[in-house]
Amino acid sequence: MSTVKANPVAAVQKERSMELQKQMIAAHYDALSEAHERGRKVVYTFVPGNLTELMRAFEVLPVLPEINALQSGMRKLSGDYITEAEKYGHSEDVCTYVKCDIGMLKKGNIGPTGKKLPNPDLLLLSYTGCFTFMKWFELLRQEYGCPVAMLHVPYQSDGVIQPHHLDYIVKQLQTEVIPKLEGVTGRRFDQERLRETLRLSARAEDDLVWVLESAKNIPSPIDAYFGGVYYIGPMFSTFRGTPEGVEYYRALRSEVAERLHLGLGPVLPEGRIEHERYRLVIEGPPNWTSFREFWKMFYEESAVIVASTYTKVGGLYDRGFRHDPARPLETLAEYCMGCYTNLGLPTRVRLLEQYIRDYRADGFMINSVKSCNSFSVGQLLMLRQLEERTGVPGGFIESDLVDPRYFSAANIKNRIESYLQMIDQRRETQSQA
Ligand code: SF4
Repeated sequence: MSTVKANPVAAVQKERSMELQKQMIAAHYDALSEAHERGRKVVYTFVPGNLTELMRAFEVLPVLPEINALQSGMRKLSGDYITEAEKYGHSEDVCTYVKCDIGMLKKGNIGPTGKKLPNPDLLLLSYTGCFTFMKWFELLRQEYGCPVAMLHVPYQSDGVIQPHHLDYIVKQLQTEVIPKLEGVTGRRFDQERLRETLRLSARAEDDLVWVLESAKNIPSPIDAYFGGVYYIGPMFSTFRGTPEGVEYYRALRSEVAERLHLGLGPVLPEGRIEHERYRLVIEGPPNWTSFREFWKMFYEESAVIVASTYTKVGGLYDRGFRHDPARPLETLAEYCMGCYTNLGLPTRVRLLEQYIRDYRADGFMINSVKSCNSFSVGQLLMLRQLEERTGVPGGFIESDLVDPRYFSAANIKNRIESYLQMIDQRRETQSQA
């Protein structure tokens, strides 16, 4: 039973970073809608292992199908898109990001801001750990008939990046990816321009890490999962290597620093958490179709998420990686190797264990999403191993990314409440010991 409520009276002031992000996204989709009239090229690519700095060096505009899918989920459009894709024979078991994207395409390819997305001039497939990425772009190639540049990134099965892994990726950048980008854009590769974008990325990355690590404080000034997905947005999508990206993360950092200074908790859709009661780590992506409702189930109980693995799908900056302008192609290779989807199970467990300890978490929760095998496989094993290693209790809930048929609110709420009661009982037992 909930005893502490978020304060619904204190209206949330839109912070400058939120406004900036909104403007940046709107400007990006505007640029996309008129890209071809203005002679700009468009490249579709994925979030994990995205080569944004390289694309920026060629002045192309990126489109990320996963971002479109999750935006469709948040705007309650994904259900129709998924049904549409299923009419074309895509089975119920296929990743719902894929079906949402295909359905959106079949219904006119209208992007999140209501403007039509341009067709791709190139599909840039950085293959980082998830087989579905390949199948997804095979489907898009059939639809658009455009060229594909494939970058094969070796799986980090034992958690170590070897020099030969990096050589293998750099060679593909030199012989496959860069020539294809040169062919599509008619521009020569400019290494100095790439270095400049990498320099800008590293500055923004420093600020993002500072923000994520602010959750080590008690109380945490951020929610590193539900709030975190907004914080990683510009970094994981199209704004690395841009002055706008640098400005966004500078603004975000100063807002979080202010909250920290005042001892305030995270900004919520309604009010603030007055007393942080539970500090949790979450593994797995969020549900997007009922995102607000899902978040509310936690903040109504004054539970704050202090670290999450989902906010690492586009790079593990908090483990020290920074894009390095001194080694322009090697740094891109290293980045691709280190994305969360490219990590083996033992490395994922170690990472979560560190988060639980470093962020002084009371427990961890796994949100097992039905359609993403890349995340879900092995999660029950992770649960057991983490409980053994850390001694804190784990919780398990199930939902989906963007398929509204797989979000059972009552069921999930029940599980969260019982899980938090378990933490209470544990505290009581410990205080009596
Ligand atoms: S299965 Fe998971 S990682 Fe792969 S494309 Fe779908 S959501 Fe992304």
